[in-house]
Amino acid sequence: MEAFYTVQGEGFYTGHAAYFIRLGGCDVGCFWCDVKESWEVDKHPQQTVEQIVAGAMEYPGRKAVITGGEPLMHNLDALTFALKENGFSVHIETSGAHPLSGHIDWVCLSPKKFKAPLPEVMKKADELKVVVYNKSDFRWAEEHAAQVSEDCHLLLQPEWSKQQEVMPLIVDYVKQNPQWNISLQTHKFMDIP
Ligand code: SF4
Repeated sequence: MEAFYTVQGEGFYTGHAAYFIRLGGCDVGCFWCDVKESWEVDKHPQQTVEQIVAGAMEYPGRKAVITGGEPLMHNLDALTFALKENGFSVHIETSGAHPLSGHIDWVCLSPKKFKAPLPEVMKKADELKVVVYNKSDFRWAEEHAAQVSEDCHLLLQPEWSKQQEVMPLIVDYVKQNPQWNISLQTHKFMDIP
């Protein structure tokens, strides 16, 4: 769908320069999705792996973040191996609703209520990032935290439009449950993509 060099705005790697590769296609259907234009896979022109990697090589950063859409709707073997060959650390941002593929160094799992993550992806998550939309999401977050590995980083992130309302709840929750950290969509504050 698009690719661009920017600074990771959210999650464990907030503040790190990274080349974002946004793949078209998503069948999860979150009503608050902020990239709904990514949903239809056929709307976006295809590029070769070589073209995508050449785009990434134009910049000095060597972190590549594959996102979407739901990037695991595609087999990522060829793209991730080509990125690795060219010295990139490969990160993925996924709902976990499709099987993992490719060589991935960092799995950011952001499960969604609309399509459950697969157990195999949950076990591989390096970071569990739960979007908090309302109070009941804390219980839902804990249900997922119980299924990831022990060293998985746990993050709660306010849904952007609900920030004012849920932020105080998240702050209280993290103070009481310090195994969780807060993730903010800092790119929206910085006005960068
Ligand atoms: S999984 Fe991501 S891209 Fe897909 S609908 Fe949800 S927020 Fe949008």
